[in-house]
Amino acid sequence: MNDQNIIDLIKRHDIKPTANRIIVAKALAGQHCPMSMAELEDRIGSIDKSGIFRTLTLFKEQQLVHTLEDGDGVRYELCHSHDHSIDNDMHVHFHCEKCGQTICLEHIPIPEISLPEDFQVQSANFVLKGTCPKCRNHRHQKP
Ligand SMILES: [Zn+2]
Ligand SMILES: [Zn+2]
Repeated sequence: MNDQNIIDLIKRHDIKPTANRIIVAKALAGQHCPMSMAELEDRIGSIDKSGIFRTLTLFKEQQLVHTLEDGDGVRYELCHSHDHSIDNDMHVHFHCEKCGQTICLEHIPIPEISLPEDFQVQSANFVLKGTCPKCRNHRHQKP
């Protein structure tokens, strides 16, 4: 995504695209897997921790980011639903217990679960755990 795509995405979520917000959204867009707060801090040298956190909180309120909990902590990723009221970008994630990576399986939607009447789902945290292809191949290659 280029700068203009990022700005458009921020605006579509009813957020004013300030310089800091663009930097945080860009850092998230540059990574194809959900990022932890520590990883974001590493990538963004120019904004302090509380500034990053405030930005993420706003993004979350406006549905521009998803959060997910993978057992190691909270991770953030950009939401591509292009809408601030309906989140139609919910997908499955895979957490590798060997290398600790959390991978987006963005083409695998979260299975629909029929809930009793009057329950309204706002977000879903669907994380499968196991061994990623990279770690599996690594093991096979060992003599
Ligand atoms: Zn792995
Ligand atoms: Zn994802």
